[in-house]
Amino acid sequence: MDIAIDDLRSYARCPLEWFWERRLGIPRPQTITALVPAAIRAGLDFFYEGHAPDLTTAVGLVWQDWCEGWGDAALAGDLARYAAGRAKILNLFAAGHVQRPGGGRYAVPEMTNEYRQRMHAAGLTKLGRQLDEFARTHALLAADEDDRPGSAMGDAVAQSLAAAERCAPDLPAREIVLGRQAPYQVEGLGTVRLIGQADLLLPDAEASEAVVVEVHDFESAPWMRAGIAGRDLRVIAASLGKPTETTPIVAWERVSQVVYRHWPTGQVYRFRETNSGHLLGLVASIARGMRQQVVVPRAVTGYEHCRACAYRPECWDGANWDTLPLIDAGLLGAAEALRTTMHGLRGSLAGDHAVVQRMRRFLDTLEAAVAQSELAAVLAASRHALEASHDPDN
Ligand code: SF4
Repeated sequence: MDIAIDDLRSYARCPLEWFWERRLGIPRPQTITALVPAAIRAGLDFFYEGHAPDLTTAVGLVWQDWCEGWGDAALAGDLARYAAGRAKILNLFAAGHVQRPGGGRYAVPEMTNEYRQRMHAAGLTKLGRQLDEFARTHALLAADEDDRPGSAMGDAVAQSLAAAERCAPDLPAREIVLGRQAPYQVEGLGTVRLIGQADLLLPDAEASEAVVVEVHDFESAPWMRAGIAGRDLRVIAASLGKPTETTPIVAWERVSQVVYRHWPTGQVYRFRETNSGHLLGLVASIARGMRQQVVVPRAVTGYEHCRACAYRPECWDGANWDTLPLIDAGLLGAAEALRTTMHGLRGSLAGDHAVVQRMRRFLDTLEAAVAQSELAAVLAASRHALEASHDPDN
């Protein structure tokens, strides 16, 4: 069974999210939040292919292209103006020119009245409303998005430009990058093969058979810690990655180091060893849930927990998630059929202790074989073995 690491994470976040996308095939709706990593990734492509002198310019070009695609090339100018004004205000907080009443910095300046007032005074609240109106009419923003002093769309542009500027000095040079979005696979996880992508693939200067993999995290957070980054499934999986047939340019024997880059803060952590047992346990339980279609919606814990989810309209608009047939009728039918099989077997073995013992050993062998091969092939081989052992000529 092949599982993409993105699907694994999606199922872990909310099984219903995975169900919409992978079982029902509903394409993931576009959201403003998802545009931030998309802009940075596309910007990295522009930059590493030499189409822009630096990453910040490259990310700006991406937004410009998108605005043209949305049919409003002039919007790029408004977004850039908004981003520059917002950055100017936030720089006052960062430099300590705006502080708490008792002194000291604000942890999240965007949540303060000071920020709200300065955005308003700079005309960015009004501009922000216009930007978000555009986003709503282009299905990029939900109608009930949180009220904020500025603009969700403008903030996305500003965040992607700020992240590019923050991380650019520390990025690997153009000439040493071996690949971007390079696919890899992880085997040795029972019946599952994990498929992932290295955000950047770099050579190991000290070992020609090894590579360094960069994992890029865009999850919004004011800080990151090594302990959290080291538990990230993408980090552990990347450390065990092997090239797939389609991996471009380079083959490698091992990953000597994983570089975890957190774009919202610019923090970088390097890992030479990871906890593969953690990954094995998680993959086994998630794969079991996927196979059995165990779908417990996150919505059970309330609307607020669904706010950031791209599938929110599917679950909360119109017919809500609680009206969905989440207990699969097909699975119930299968459970009934299994119960009938069990009764039939018990009836045919009843009272014969010796046969029960032999059947137990037979089932042990069968179970081990099923874990490694296709069920149909194992059953055919078992039948063949049974017939042969019963043949008087044998
Ligand atoms: S809206 Fe909530 S319940 Fe629905 S898929 Fe998203 S997280 Fe899951």
